[in-house]
Amino acid sequence: MIRAHTIRLNPTPEQTNLFRQAAGTARFCYNWGLRAIKDALDQGVKVPVARALRDEFKRIRAVAYPWTFQVGKSAIEGAFVNLGHAVTNFFASRRGRRKGKRVGFPTFKSRRHGYGSFYVANDRLTVDGHTLTVSKVGTLNMTESLRFVGKILGATIRYQAGWWWISIQVEVDHTPPTHTGPAIGVDLGIKALAVTSEGEVFENQKYLKRALRTVKRLQRSVSRKVQGSANRRKAVRKLAKAHFRVACQRKDVLHKLTTALVRQASLVGIEDLNVAGMLKNHCLAQAISDVSFAELRRQLDYKAPAFGSRVVAIGRFFASSKTCNRCGHVNRDLTLAMRAWTCPVCGTVLDRDLNAARNIRDEAVRLAGA
Ligand SMILES: [Zn+2]
Repeated sequence: MIRAHTIRLNPTPEQTNLFRQAAGTARFCYNWGLRAIKDALDQGVKVPVARALRDEFKRIRAVAYPWTFQVGKSAIEGAFVNLGHAVTNFFASRRGRRKGKRVGFPTFKSRRHGYGSFYVANDRLTVDGHTLTVSKVGTLNMTESLRFVGKILGATIRYQAGWWWISIQVEVDHTPPTHTGPAIGVDLGIKALAVTSEGEVFENQKYLKRALRTVKRLQRSVSRKVQGSANRRKAVRKLAKAHFRVACQRKDVLHKLTTALVRQASLVGIEDLNVAGMLKNHCLAQAISDVSFAELRRQLDYKAPAFGSRVVAIGRFFASSKTCNRCGHVNRDLTLAMRAWTCPVCGTVLDRDLNAARNIRDEAVRLAGA
């Protein structure tokens, strides 16, 4: 099982320069390869694969780009691997062989979007407690020690929101335990983040709203500054940090929810929501993107195996809210505003979200057994 841990770094100013240089070289190689691919497409000749481009680059680099020798070689290898993935994903998506949203054709990486990132192969780094050693960069401090024990597969060092980060991939030896917990259904909502069939309520985080207000204020502040001025640059940096903060808070809330779910439940039933469709409804848009269902699903899927838990997604046309969990009567008149309703057949008073969560649980159990 492969796990990744992202840790903030405390590089010295000299090391920061080396990071920038490595990220810049990786960006250059990526763009160089992408240019070759675009040229091939324009000329209608066979598109070269990333590996061939890498070999070609290595052949000419001593003469054409001698400055690329100043950085570790894995930064260059990694750039071509990334390019290969980007191109493969694009063609797979266009041929309908890739799940999810359509992937666009790779675009050139721009320095305008930050310093970027670069890859470090596992033979180029060592980790010891809070100390990280990277070849050609030296020894530097990590703000946390690595959470996972196992073989380090590689790492990516990237710049984001004013800091340098390392994401270390580790091969973790793990035999999933047998989960003895119950099946739990989860109703994802707008009022609450989630309600489980056990009656547990996960609140939607209000402080996100406050953080979003700060983002809006900083956005206005940026737009008032003169283009290209130092003040504008400073304002942009502040805005990036605020955005990053919101993203971290969102992820944190989701991590707490998903960990709690896979810890408690041997089977997690969840609605397969059509998020893109829901986002079209403007009243709901803010709340939906707030709780970020796609990220929630991703976290559940990767955490469940570690606990021996299973995730079952229910089709989005399943009437989870409208069906009485006691007798199965379907209430066609239920509107979004009705938080509770009384079943006209069996007389049970039903809480909208809890009832939905129980229906989702039962449907998940049915699907899992089938
Ligand atoms: Zn009923």
